[in-house]
Amino acid sequence: MTEFPTPPTDVPAIEVVDLYKRFGELEVLKGVSLTVKAGQVVCVIGPSGSGKSTLLRCVNRLEEPTAGQLRVEGIDILDPEIDVDKVRTRIGMVFQQFNLFPHLSVLRNLTLAQRRVLGRGKEEAAEVARQNLERVGLLDKADAYPAHLSGGQQQRAAIARSLSMNPDMMLFDEPTSALDPELVGDVLDVMRNLAGSGMTMMVVTHEMGFAREVGDDLVFMDDGMIVEEGNPRDVLANPRHTRTQSFLSKVL
Ligand code: ADP
Ligand code: MG
Repeated sequence: MTEFPTPPTDVPAIEVVDLYKRFGELEVLKGVSLTVKAGQVVCVIGPSGSGKSTLLRCVNRLEEPTAGQLRVEGIDILDPEIDVDKVRTRIGMVFQQFNLFPHLSVLRNLTLAQRRVLGRGKEEAAEVARQNLERVGLLDKADAYPAHLSGGQQQRAAIARSLSMNPDMMLFDEPTSALDPELVGDVLDVMRNLAGSGMTMMVVTHEMGFAREVGDDLVFMDDGMIVEEGNPRDVLANPRHTRTQSFLSKVL
């Protein structure tokens, strides 16, 4: 079974090479290539249906690509021999919907996978959970149930749950899109701090301010392809491609 040693820093965290994904007749990814270096934050923007979620989901093999290469920390994760569950423990994922278990307290939500997947003991898992709840400003909600939290608090709890697995990288799929506007800022603050701590992140978002401030790289996708990519300030201020210009004129 493939082990995941600490990667040398010159190996990209994520390497996507000429990736294709087809659902029946529908080709959703049409030769996507991108690299996320360790410690980098790459933001992905683009219209609905352009393939952003599918791309993220391919990275932790929630979707099987039709063709192309996918390496995580230098390891070919499309290799049929690979232990997919092991790949996934290295990659945290946060969705638009928070997917907390409603019948479990926040703390239990954070300890469950630590215990089941990582085999941590009760005390250790609880300690890690508390550290991460503190990190997202929710230590006082450890014993609350998800229904008693705001959407923003639930999303921060979901982020803390992912962090409790000690992932090497985090994928975010529109983490603030389901939130009331006044709750978005707290979640973005948590993500900004996470980026500042050196976490490798791939973030699908419509928050252009976040992309500009926090992103090392901005990728614009349309119709299953990367149309434009570069420094977020440059891309947002001077989009070169007409499709990028048109998209940005609608969202900025
Ligand atoms: P985005 O996240 O950019 O909005 P998606 O990756 O969710 O785009 O979807 C891209 C296209 O793939 C859409 O046309 C969507 O309907 C289609 N699609 C996504 N998932 C599936 C699936 N499981 N089966 C069939 N079509 C899908
Ligand atoms: Mg999506």
